[in-house]
Amino acid sequence: MRRRFITLSALVALVPAALIAQSAARNPDAPQYGTFGFDTAGMDRSVKPGDDFYAFANGTWAKNTVIPADEANYGAFSVLQDLSRERTRGLLEAARSDPRSKIGTAYAAFLDTAAIERAGLAPIRPWLATIKAADKPGYAALLAQADRNGVDTPFGLYVGQDSKNPDAYVVNLRQSGLGMPDRDYYLSNDAKLVEARTAYRAHLARLLTLAGEADADARAAAIVAFETQIAQAHWTRIDSRDADKTYNRMTLADLARTAPGFDFAAYLKAGGLAADTLVVGQPTAIAGEAALIAKTPIAVLRDQLIVRSLDGFADVLPAAIDRESFAFNDTVLNGTPEQSERWKRAVGFTSSALTDEVSKVYVARYFPPATKAAADEMVRNIIAAMNRRIDTLEWMAPETKAKAHAKLAAFVPRIGYPDRWRDYAALSIRAGDAFGNMLRANQWQHDYNVGKLGKPIYRWEWGMAPMTVNAQANFGLVAITFPAAILQPPFFDPKADAAVNYGGIGAVIGHEMSHHFDDQGAKFDARGRLTQWWTDADVARFKALSQKLVAQYDAYQPLPGLHVKGQLTLGENSADLAGLAAAHDAYLASLKGAKPPVIDGFSADQRFYLGWAQVWRRNYREANLRQRLLTDPHAPSEQRTWIVRNMDAWYDAYRPAPADRLYLAPDARVRIW
Ligand SMILES: [Zn+2]
Repeated sequence: MRRRFITLSALVALVPAALIAQSAARNPDAPQYGTFGFDTAGMDRSVKPGDDFYAFANGTWAKNTVIPADEANYGAFSVLQDLSRERTRGLLEAARSDPRSKIGTAYAAFLDTAAIERAGLAPIRPWLATIKAADKPGYAALLAQADRNGVDTPFGLYVGQDSKNPDAYVVNLRQSGLGMPDRDYYLSNDAKLVEARTAYRAHLARLLTLAGEADADARAAAIVAFETQIAQAHWTRIDSRDADKTYNRMTLADLARTAPGFDFAAYLKAGGLAADTLVVGQPTAIAGEAALIAKTPIAVLRDQLIVRSLDGFADVLPAAIDRESFAFNDTVLNGTPEQSERWKRAVGFTSSALTDEVSKVYVARYFPPATKAAADEMVRNIIAAMNRRIDTLEWMAPETKAKAHAKLAAFVPRIGYPDRWRDYAALSIRAGDAFGNMLRANQWQHDYNVGKLGKPIYRWEWGMAPMTVNAQANFGLVAITFPAAILQPPFFDPKADAAVNYGGIGAVIGHEMSHHFDDQGAKFDARGRLTQWWTDADVARFKALSQKLVAQYDAYQPLPGLHVKGQLTLGENSADLAGLAAAHDAYLASLKGAKPPVIDGFSADQRFYLGWAQVWRRNYREANLRQRLLTDPHAPSEQRTWIVRNMDAWYDAYRPAPADRLYLAPDARVRIW
């Protein structure tokens, strides 16, 4: 959230040399990768698939692929993200010549670093002056204003679908207030995190100095001390992703009584939220933060907002601040040595600020209807496969199975792009005003969100742009979403072998569907309501099976001393496990009894799992990997690939020996769905 307009993470248009060579010589009917959709040149056949299936499939690629200087990691997702960004750039460059085009104007203003430099700190001065003028009684209203301006505060306040009443919106309040990625960065004694902490304090001091503030070192130290106490109050990420624990509906009066020290009523009122009930995510953390705010001098509270504002708007402030923000947030925290070229960041900003305006022109040009038809069919096949798998489950009661079928029948697949667009008429975008554009875009976003309260659910709305290389499951909407940009090679290639496509996009589709049955998604019924629709015995058996997967992932140690967090990544690993299995079933069913050929020496099942491994090829910088291990609910790509060790069909395909590292005896393989 800190750099909110860099949601399209910085990536470079550097396709691995091997791929460029292939495309140069390609005939129009050939798939983009290799001869059947998989890059066999990227394999390392000196590795036994049973020892490390990731390296077997991707080892040579991993050795030969250098992470571009402005990237924190690089892989199959990055290649497509680069492509999306290049295409979006072309559209925005064309839009620039039309002075009435909002996207063209926003893009051009962001690119105009000379104007940004000339303006200096003048554009942000009024907001900084507002912060500095606030007194303690005015702090709640100040936070509401910060929220609207897009500046992170100690609380996350937003309107969202009510998990227990999915036909209505409700105000949500969540813990927030850390300038580093997680509480561990403040509290752990790990040497690398202690280093990051020291760098953070120096970063805050430099920001204050760049903003012309005196006594920067002492003030930075006070901010870090304040945030360290916030970190102590915070829940862990494991608890914070628990749908039951984080659903605490209360009245404002209850909240005032249980979390004294901060005027929540004034906060909501100033934020334009006319509500007397809300859902509180982490009650003890919110209470801890309120008490902490009460005893912290207003000067420290103000300073935190000043540095958060400078970091948040760094992209559109003078280069000295921009570079300082990059040096900490990207180099220290992610290991990225070089900042991306300005145009890439301009594409990212414009795509975030005016998402649907950019999306409209993007999909008109880059989403062929045939792709949607093919994806629709795959979704149907995988839903059918999941239905069949549910019938065979031994641990689930028949009455729960009936409800699980009903939930599958209720799925809303969303493919390519939304069928309705948001209206940005109220958002004013001005030439030569990069800072103002970002500020007003943040305010527009805030007002749009607040405006949902009391309205029927915006069921048409997507949480992802069609240019984004990703996919999503939404529990409340019982929806699965696949943006246009992920429906491309290596995930999906109409010219590739079907086995590779099912192992790629098929498994991604299965993954998102399976989220609705993972450790959290399974708590939501066919209407998207958070309620226990299973028998108690089903829940107990499901938890026991899930714990086996937790233990399997806890054992992985990607960095010395740093393990994958099995519980934090349980939802994603469950979705991989169930999704890959369903995709495999769907692939077999799609053959309709025909025997698939051997291609280049690989059986169909071997190609299916190679397709899976190929979409997960990714190299990480160490700092980025460390941050992900601490904060990301996804396991690293290598460990995600290894989910295959739980699948009987993978053993049949590759015949690993019992002594191989990934080998699991049949009764040690985890099967949940
Ligand atoms: Zn997922």
